[in-house]
Amino acid sequence: MTSLTFYGGVKDIGGNKFLVEDRGTKIFMDFGMSFSAENQYFSEYLKARGSNSLIDMMELGLLPKIKGLYRRDYAKHMGFGGDEETEINAVLLTHAHVDHCAYIRYLRPDITIYCSEESKLIMQSFDDTGNGEQYLELTEKFGFHKSEKGSTKDLMVKDSGVKTPRKIQVFESNKKFNIDSIEVTPLPVDHSISGVHGFILATSEGMLANTADIRFHGRRTQDTEKFVEKCAESSLDLLLCEGTRINKTQSPTESDVENKVTEIVNDTEKLVICGYPTRDLDRLQSFYLAAKATGRDLAIEPRQAYLLQLFNSSSKLKGLYPSPTDKHIKIYIPKGEWGLIDKDISVYTRKLLDEDYKVWAREFLDYENKIDYRDVSAKQSQFMLSLSDFKLQELIDIKPNEGSSYIRSLTEPFDLEMEFKQKRIENWFTRFGLITSEKKWHQVHVSGHGDGNQIKIVIENSNSKKLIPIHTEPKNEVYHKKWHTNVQSVNPQDSVKL
Ligand SMILES: [Zn+2]
Repeated sequence: MTSLTFYGGVKDIGGNKFLVEDRGTKIFMDFGMSFSAENQYFSEYLKARGSNSLIDMMELGLLPKIKGLYRRDYAKHMGFGGDEETEINAVLLTHAHVDHCAYIRYLRPDITIYCSEESKLIMQSFDDTGNGEQYLELTEKFGFHKSEKGSTKDLMVKDSGVKTPRKIQVFESNKKFNIDSIEVTPLPVDHSISGVHGFILATSEGMLANTADIRFHGRRTQDTEKFVEKCAESSLDLLLCEGTRINKTQSPTESDVENKVTEIVNDTEKLVICGYPTRDLDRLQSFYLAAKATGRDLAIEPRQAYLLQLFNSSSKLKGLYPSPTDKHIKIYIPKGEWGLIDKDISVYTRKLLDEDYKVWAREFLDYENKIDYRDVSAKQSQFMLSLSDFKLQELIDIKPNEGSSYIRSLTEPFDLEMEFKQKRIENWFTRFGLITSEKKWHQVHVSGHGDGNQIKIVIENSNSKKLIPIHTEPKNEVYHKKWHTNVQSVNPQDSVKL
């Protein structure tokens, strides 16, 4: 018997966690976080309790109640088993967006994660430069440790710091592999982050495919086309098909973004500031090419330089994206904890300057192409500065001149909370003269998801006997039904036999 259980990712955009069971083989496709489910209960200051996170999240329906799935240190401490063997063979990861991968951090390290090289490096950048995500390496918690005297009276509640690497298995695009009874073909598809793969699974009861998040209008149209062709050749019994933007009819392309940005930069006399997703390297590429075409340098924050460094250190991915030492790239060093970047180094020593930054960021202080606000401020017409929403304070030091522009290349708000946050960002750019009541910022963005016309092609050309809509709002499943005669609509926690 082969079955699929949907622990998230249906009647919802993201939070994908699909358990595939086939003759005793059990694999999860993705293990992501649902923004909508988390937002129902949690906020910045109201979170799952660290001491009880698994239980808190299971009680709220955010994590599946499955013994043997979660890290032993958490499970034992929180009273959810932890001594049993796991029945889950693996997680197959489509891509490293948090709605697909965030809850991997709770899993046992001996459950193998199959992912692309790109996904692995993106998760590594989260581990190294983020807030303790622990995707690739776990640090043991809740261990009691004897003091030096060795007496049980002196037990200390202190994290041991023991690190355990997760089992990560990097797959090759288009190259089949087996997880016990299931044969997996990972096929690259186009989406707004590198290394995204859809999957075709050959099980004992039939063939099934998962589109992952998919579009045709990025820099990898052919990947999506080939994925659909492969689906058609595979006589699919079931297609799990996303529908995030299935109710939309148009999508500008990634090269439209590049052209539009180039045009805006050409029309800007002074500084160009841009905001785009840090980990979307295809979008970075658009801004980089626009910088090159207009004779400017693209100044990026250390976090993005770190990711470029990881990609350029991989023999498989080297040269795909600009290196952080590329002649059109500058590394913008923001002020650190003490703000020593512009202080007299003979007083404040190089050692202190190093300590002003996180360990991972220090190497960039040695880069010849590093710059700071003084360089940008002095030569505004020479730069495109990538500035994230969390570093807007730099505007205070940079002081953009009249004739500067802001290009925003991020999703527009789709709920009240996001509108509220966006208003705050507008206040910053208004304050520093980049936007006025007459002149708005330049919104130049394309989505990671195909519109209805694109998804219709995926559905019709995949030629699957049955279809289950995933990664979409409940109201939008009507579109899947319009374009396929055998659509099964499923709810979270539902199990379906193949
Ligand atoms: Zn997604």
